[in-house]
Amino acid sequence: MNEHTLRVYQGGCLCSAVRYEVEGQPLVVAHCHCESCQRGSGAGHSTGAMFPADKFKLSGPIAEYKYKSNNGNEVTRFFCPACGSPVFGRNSGAKDYVTVTLGTIDNSNEFEPQVVVFARNQKLWDVIEGNLPTFDAQPDWKPKEDE
Ligand SMILES: [Zn+2]
Ligand SMILES: [Zn+2]
Repeated sequence: MNEHTLRVYQGGCLCSAVRYEVEGQPLVVAHCHCESCQRGSGAGHSTGAMFPADKFKLSGPIAEYKYKSNNGNEVTRFFCPACGSPVFGRNSGAKDYVTVTLGTIDNSNEFEPQVVVFARNQKLWDVIEGNLPTFDAQPDWKPKEDE
């Protein structure tokens, strides 16, 4: 059996009140420059790894904030009620998935971002190295949280 088949990742928020475990490999790892990711992360973009929701197990208290994206989907951002770390998100357009913020995964160096989305909103001070496929907004072919 290939080592990736049973890979389990752990992660959590800044204060450790929220911990989670996620199993398997992400469908995609993306840098997103949409305005809601900028506001929600306080940085120039957020980097998320998308996993099947049934592979994600959360422990600890969690707070949520819901809003409508421009395309009418309902987006929910889940964060630690104590320290405010953005932990994961869901999108009604991709109900069976969660997008975990890569910075909250304990050993995230083995993940490789594959794509940059909402590049039209990228800040001049937030340059991403490399030649990743880059999209102005959210490409149609991939369900993910968006603006
Ligand atoms: Zn916390
Ligand atoms: Zn975004």
